[in-house]
Amino acid sequence: MKIKAEFAARNVRVMTKTKVTQFCDDGIIVQKEDGTEEKIEADTMINALGFRPAPVSVEMPNACVIGDATGAANILKAVAEGYKAANSI
Ligand SMILES: Cc1cc2nc3c(=O)[nH]c(=O)nc-3n(C[C@H](O)[C@H](O)[C@H](O)COP(=O)(O)OP(=O)(O)OC[C@H]3O[C@@H](n4cnc5c(N)ncnc54)[C@H](O)[C@@H]3O)c2cc1C
Repeated sequence: MKIKAEFAARNVRVMTKTKVTQFCDDGIIVQKEDGTEEKIEADTMINALGFRPAPVSVEMPNACVIGDATGAANILKAVAEGYKAANSI
């Protein structure tokens, strides 16, 4: 199954050209392409953003740092770590 079909089948909302501006206790605030903000409520947030390694775990308890956030590597490592983190939720 192609990834877009997988997302649709699992009700995953894809938001392109959208920037996460804030993490809250009950979700995230995003800024959309037109400049408007939206709050997306969530119990669990998976942060798969950015290029530079970041000490996310220090700022967010129970955070699991994956992919290039732990250091530049490759897609296989990022996907494998994401899969492992998702299964641990
Ligand atoms: C030029 C280049 C070539 C590469 N070639 C290969 C290759 O051939 N094979 C291979 O296996 N690997 C390759 N890599 C490495 C691979 O791309 C990375 O290891 C992999 O993409 C890491 O995945 P990630 O999810 O951790 O981060 P990323 O893929 O970098 O994903 C992070 C995403 O977060 C987004 N983002 C950042 N901040 C925000 C925000 N505030 N709000 C919303 N979104 C945000 C970014 O736009 C980005 O889309 C290459 C890397 C580079 C730079």
